[in-house]
Amino acid sequence: MAIMFVDKKTDFVISNPTSIKVKDMFDKKRILSVLCIFVYLLLFSSLNLFAAEKKRTILIDPAHGGQDVGIQVASSVYEKDITLAVALLIKKELAAEKNIEVVLIRDSDKTVSTEERRKTIEKLKPDFCLSIHVNAGFGHNASGFEIYYSAYDEQAATGKKSTKDDLRQLRNKLSNDSLTMAKIVQDHLNVLFPRKGRGLRKADNPTVAGLHIPSLVVEMGFGTHADDKKKLVSSKTQADIAKAFASSIKKYFR
Ligand SMILES: [Zn+2]
Repeated sequence: MAIMFVDKKTDFVISNPTSIKVKDMFDKKRILSVLCIFVYLLLFSSLNLFAAEKKRTILIDPAHGGQDVGIQVASSVYEKDITLAVALLIKKELAAEKNIEVVLIRDSDKTVSTEERRKTIEKLKPDFCLSIHVNAGFGHNASGFEIYYSAYDEQAATGKKSTKDDLRQLRNKLSNDSLTMAKIVQDHLNVLFPRKGRGLRKADNPTVAGLHIPSLVVEMGFGTHADDKKKLVSSKTQADIAKAFASSIKKYFR
């Protein structure tokens, strides 16, 4: 018995059972395609979600602390006080950022050796390490901020068997990431202290030496310069510097 089938879309009458099988297969294919697209979209959106939720960690290393006072900036203000104040303010500035975690090497006035700092960093494996200092020297005329970005050497990747190419790639990436952040910080500090930038310099940061963490050492100003000194001890300028760092960090992780 011939089966009559009316396709609603075309009003086309199919009287051959083979045609029904072909149509059936076509429908299955269509359902499969729709399913594939659905799964793809689901996967894509969950990957996006994962990317959006991925937390980046910035480690702030307020130099000195406790018995290691750093340089004296005013009668009762030392480098360790200014670096801590700015570090705490950076953390406060970034507190609302869901995708950025700020970890401080110290959040109080305590002595932390370079070795202890290194151990903390090695354990945490942050995405970036920012060490902050106050400068001194070159008489009383030198002023402004200096930025040192990490440079890497062959010994940096000891302990692991890696080809020269891997090592070169890793070193390049770390140096590039450090330089990228250096330029961002320079731009932000230039707004705050116009014509006070003393340039970018390539130098090892002893706190992260050999740890494969991109990093900067920022000397925020000269504690030995009258005008810099006034600014460095002012809580308003400290807050402005922290804002400049926070904006830089946000831009770097974007
Ligand atoms: Zn220092």
